[in-house]
Amino acid sequence: MVLADLGRKINSALADLTKAPVIDEKVLDAVLKDICGALLMSDVNIMLVGKLRNNVKKAVNVPDLGGGVNKKRIIEKAVMDELYNLVDPGAEPYKPVKRKANIFMMVGLQGAGKTTTCTKLASYYQRKGWKTALVCADTFRAGAFDQLKQNATKAKIPYYGSYTETDPVAIALEGVEKFKADKFDIIIVDTSGRHKQETELFEEMKQISAAVEPDSTIFVMDGTIGQAAEAQAKAFKEAANFGSIIMTKMDGHAKGGGAISAVAATQSPIVFIGTGEHLHDLDRFEPKPFIRKMLG
Ligand code: GDP
Repeated sequence: MVLADLGRKINSALADLTKAPVIDEKVLDAVLKDICGALLMSDVNIMLVGKLRNNVKKAVNVPDLGGGVNKKRIIEKAVMDELYNLVDPGAEPYKPVKRKANIFMMVGLQGAGKTTTCTKLASYYQRKGWKTALVCADTFRAGAFDQLKQNATKAKIPYYGSYTETDPVAIALEGVEKFKADKFDIIIVDTSGRHKQETELFEEMKQISAAVEPDSTIFVMDGTIGQAAEAQAKAFKEAANFGSIIMTKMDGHAKGGGAISAVAATQSPIVFIGTGEHLHDLDRFEPKPFIRKMLG
C-alpha cells in the first residue's frame, strides 16, 4: 500500500468513530484493527504496529473516560501521537557548523541512490550559501566517478576523484584534505556500495570512516524496499554507526513502511527524502508534517 493510500485508510478508520452512536472498547478495537491492518500492508514492522495499538489503548483507556468528554478527539490525538513517534526517534541530526570543514560520509547499498543523493545534498547546501564539494571514494562500481563528475558538473559543484587510484581510503583522504585546505564548508564523501550488506563493504566503510573522521555519516536507503528495511538499516547502523538516514525514491510507489521501520530499528532520524531523479528532488524530512501530509 502506498503512502497516500495508507493515509486514506487511517482517515477512513478514524471517520468510523463519528459514525458510531457510542464509542466503547469494541468500536476502538475495530478502528485500531483497520489502522494496524493498513500499517502492516504498508510494510511497517509487525512489532511496531503492535506497540502502536497497545499504546493507543493505554493512552485512551475507554472505560475510564467520562460521558462528557470528546472521545473521538482523544482517540485521534493518541493515534496521531503514535504515528509521530514512529517516525521521530527524538535524536537531533547533525547540523553543519560555520567556519569549519563539515565532513559528511554517505553509505548504503548499490542502487539505493547514494551518488545521486550526494549531488542533491551538495546542491541543497550550496543553495543555502555553504561552500560545498564532493569526493568520489567509490572505486568498486565502474563508472561511479564518471556519474558523480557529470552530476557535479551540472550542479556546478567542485569534485575530487581518480580514474587510476584503486584504494578508496586513499582517495577519500586525499579529497577531504584537498577541500579542507581550500576552506570548503561541507565536504560530502560518496562511498561504494554492494548488492547486499557484506563484510568487505563494511570493512571498507570502517576504514574510510577512520581516515576521514566524518562529522556526520548518512545512511542512504531505498524507500521502496519494504520489509527488508529493518534488517538492512540495523546492519549498517552496527557497521557504520550512521547518525541519520536519507530515504530515496519516496516518489512513485514507495510504501513508506520501510522508512518507518528503519527509524525505529536504529533510533536514527530521517533528514531528507528523495522525491525524484533530478537535482532538486530532495525534501527536508520533518516527522510531523510528513504524517500530516500523509493523512491529507
Ligand atoms: P547508487 O548506486 O546508490 O550510487 O545509486 P544511484 O545514485 O546511481 O541511483 C540509482 C538509481 O536510482 C538511478 O537511476 C537514480 O536516478 C535513481 N534515484 C535516486 N534517487 C531517486 C529518487 O529519489 N527517486 C527516484 N525516482 N529515483 C531515484
